[in-house]
Amino acid sequence: MNKSQSWIDRGLTHVAKNYGRYPLVAASGEGCWLTDIDGKKYLDFLAGVAVNNLGHCHPDIVAAIQNQAGKLLHCSNFFHIPQQIELAEILCEHSFGDRVFFCNSGAEANEAALKLVRKYSLDNHGDDRFEIITAEQSFHGRTIATISATNQDKICKGFGSLLPGFKYVPFGDIEAIRATISSKTCAIMLEPIQGEGGINLPPEGYLQAVRELCDQNELLLIFDEVQTGLGRTGKLFAYQHDGVEPDVMTLAKALASGPPIGAMITREKYATALGPGTHGSTFGGNPLLAAAGVATMKVFLNGDVLKNSVVMGNYLKTKLEQLQAKYSIITQVRGRGLMIGMELTVEGGEIVKTALDRGLLINCTAGKTLRFVPPLIVTRKEIDQMIKILDGIFKEL
Ligand SMILES: *Cc1c(COP(=O)(O)O)cnc(C)c1O
Repeated sequence: MNKSQSWIDRGLTHVAKNYGRYPLVAASGEGCWLTDIDGKKYLDFLAGVAVNNLGHCHPDIVAAIQNQAGKLLHCSNFFHIPQQIELAEILCEHSFGDRVFFCNSGAEANEAALKLVRKYSLDNHGDDRFEIITAEQSFHGRTIATISATNQDKICKGFGSLLPGFKYVPFGDIEAIRATISSKTCAIMLEPIQGEGGINLPPEGYLQAVRELCDQNELLLIFDEVQTGLGRTGKLFAYQHDGVEPDVMTLAKALASGPPIGAMITREKYATALGPGTHGSTFGGNPLLAAAGVATMKVFLNGDVLKNSVVMGNYLKTKLEQLQAKYSIITQVRGRGLMIGMELTVEGGEIVKTALDRGLLINCTAGKTLRFVPPLIVTRKEIDQMIKILDGIFKEL
């Protein structure tokens, strides 16, 4: 028996069964390549689901973690943490925000955002104003509040009554939002591009129109940039494409290149709603996580990574469109930067399995959309390799 199989067998015994896992046992990674425990190499166009934006084991991040690990791993948020302060400074300098709350995941960042907008609204507009409008097909995490924000059967079913106070509208439909706003509404929460929902781009002008509705009705606008943020779409944050600034933005996935960190960024005016004692996190922004975050942001900000995300994003999209022209099973290629979806007429699960077999990691989201979110350092040569494998698979279908 190979080493992978024996780990897979052991994994069946005591690890929770909440994931449908593929038969890959990861051992190491470098750049866009993941190596399994038997030495097989995989071209990684999943990147830990848009976490490894700088590739696996970027030397600057590894060095920062090693260096910090030898000094101080953790320190309570009762005290001041220089690495956390530095990361907050960098995030505010390069976004609309003035203040950052740190936590440990995307769902937690969204929880913080939901608590913030409710608290701000209740403090300033009275007891009855706490509803939040969200989009159908959205994904904001797996906690009770964030699944309530999503309201999709496949995520919510079986967990009983959800948190009240959410209203759902079709993504991209401005009239639906206009019709849903009431005296109870306090905020609108959207992904600038829906990730798990199938790489859904909003129609031209939609985010601007949402911003205007928020301004007219004194609503806070939350952008969940957990997946779109940090260079994924070719800019540091996706909202920068549209000339629209949110009031609250959430980040996680790629922020520390792997160590679990989340951030909720907001303007000064709203940040005051979460005063001392109102919210917290034991690990949030601890020295190790924040040091990895600072090192990650410094790489993003040197500019090359963002440029590559744009150039390689265009290249990958063109190559995928060439496949679309060849195979009628492919109905659409859509995306921005290196966040690209390929819509099929069939379920994509089997293609993902065959790709894995042939040394390519991709995934399928929303049933029929293949998702391509490679590290932002991907090269033309690696894209060509990926396309060759994919072309081979489509040819045989
Ligand atoms: C992944 C994701 C989340 C959830 O992040 P976790 O770290 O898994 O809690 C939330 N929002 C979006 C848009 C995501 O892609």
